[in-house]
Amino acid sequence: MPFSEYRSRRVQTGQGPLPDQVRGRLYNLPMATLFISDLHLDPERPDITRLFGDFLDGEARGADALYILGDLFEAWVGDDDPSETGKFVADRLKALVDAGVPVSFQRGNRDFLLGDDFARRAGISILPDPAVIVLDGKPTLLMHGDLLCTEDIAYQQFRAQTREPGWQQRFLSQPLDARLAFASQARAASQARQGELRDAGTMETITDVSPTTVDEYFTRYGIDTLIHGHTHRPAIHSLQVEGRNCKRIVLGDWYEHGSVLRMDDGDMRLDAL
Ligand code: MN
Repeated sequence: MPFSEYRSRRVQTGQGPLPDQVRGRLYNLPMATLFISDLHLDPERPDITRLFGDFLDGEARGADALYILGDLFEAWVGDDDPSETGKFVADRLKALVDAGVPVSFQRGNRDFLLGDDFARRAGISILPDPAVIVLDGKPTLLMHGDLLCTEDIAYQQFRAQTREPGWQQRFLSQPLDARLAFASQARAASQARQGELRDAGTMETITDVSPTTVDEYFTRYGIDTLIHGHTHRPAIHSLQVEGRNCKRIVLGDWYEHGSVLRMDDGDMRLDAL
């Protein structure tokens, strides 16, 4: 049976993995569900944008689905921003979706203003944060991850304010120049704040997830797998919540190289690209 038939049969019927001879020997394509986050794409790092384009045109073509868990862009001030990077990414995503690989996106703290217009151009679905998906038959919780960093009270206040529809409407009605200026100010303020935290020796705890909050999410959603990004501390953590064996998988950033989680029938691999 040709590969395309195996693939569509599997997608339609939810059958198990492809036979090894089809997956490995003939096509050498993984049939995994892929998760990435924190690419922070920016015109100043064109090599990373290119790496992402190659990933979409290459490995991602053989995936069951691709999930982007926030901070795809370093900054996003509205879908009307005519940036080259935004256009390139929308085109590459659209080509992947048109090739039959669904792409879902959660907003991060950098691109929380990414809207329906961009989603339409890129052919992607926007998921709420948090969102539960069924992965290999098991409910799995997806988050960008900033909601877990509850020790950072100032940030949580900023987050709550900027997620209000009224705030967003007012912001988006400003001219593009004013919005870009706000974004670079916010970036400078965030860098200054990180410097202060580093000096005070509280950087490690404040910018990481709160273990209590993590437990609360596992309990509230009744899941045993959580995948998130944001903290740029890639790892697969095993933990016990109410006697259950749970896993918290943290995706890595794309500053120096890529980072991808491949999930395939319970097998999970977190690798650098
Ligand atoms: Mn983030």
